[in-house]
Amino acid sequence: MNPGEFRNLIDSRYKTTGKFPVMFIGHGNPMNAIEENEFSEGWKTAGTVLPRPNAILCISAHWLTRGTFINFSPNPVTIHDFYGFPPELFEVQYPAPGDPETAQKIVDHVKKTSVAKDLDWGLDHGCWSVLNKMYPEADIPVFQMSIDYTRPEAYHLELGAELDFLRQRGVLIFASGNIVHNLRTMVWKDVAYDWALEFDETAKSRILQRDFNSLARYPELGTAALNSIPTNDHYLPMFYALSQIRGSDEVEFFNEKVTAGSVSMRSFIIY
Ligand code: ZN
Repeated sequence: MNPGEFRNLIDSRYKTTGKFPVMFIGHGNPMNAIEENEFSEGWKTAGTVLPRPNAILCISAHWLTRGTFINFSPNPVTIHDFYGFPPELFEVQYPAPGDPETAQKIVDHVKKTSVAKDLDWGLDHGCWSVLNKMYPEADIPVFQMSIDYTRPEAYHLELGAELDFLRQRGVLIFASGNIVHNLRTMVWKDVAYDWALEFDETAKSRILQRDFNSLARYPELGTAALNSIPTNDHYLPMFYALSQIRGSDEVEFFNEKVTAGSVSMRSFIIY
């Protein structure tokens, strides 16, 4: 879709429904934070088509905990949670302010579990590598909520659904992972395994059919699913976005590509 047309469409729906759009991002290689490539271009465009959020709640594959935590730092630190990358990537800072007030609202609002206050985390690269391209001025408050990795996909769908009140407050729910993410089979080439393409397409069609339960039970989807999700750390964030698809909401996909053999960059905006 043409970015200008898409922006108008999102604007008019936001005015009608009062519900802020939601994003799922396939983040992939941390180098996307500083490289100019087709994926970082897609993120930049996403930053221009969305209305300006009041704050961003980020749920990243790189903050996995026992229990659910939410960061209350007024100035979250930029976490360089990777190894073996060039110094310029370690020099990137994303000095956005936090949003302890909205974090407290989530703690008060969520019934599914008790969300614990955290002051140690900041922004991991699942958040800042993308936001660095979407909102390079780092002037929108950002705060992270962790993912309880001891819980199954269906649990995250239910917990995510309780965050819907944020959309009415102009908060961008920003989930960051990868639908297909197998580092053991990854190659440093722009290629795609057949099974990775197959599961990436399955995920797309199930999302469009709003069949989130079958995606939650991915081991039943066969070999392509099992190869694509050897561990579910990068798969879980998507359920926080899917949990927001309701009624007349639409889903627009972008960065629809599998690269490095087994990393799907597929991203989407719910509006
Ligand atoms: Zn990652």
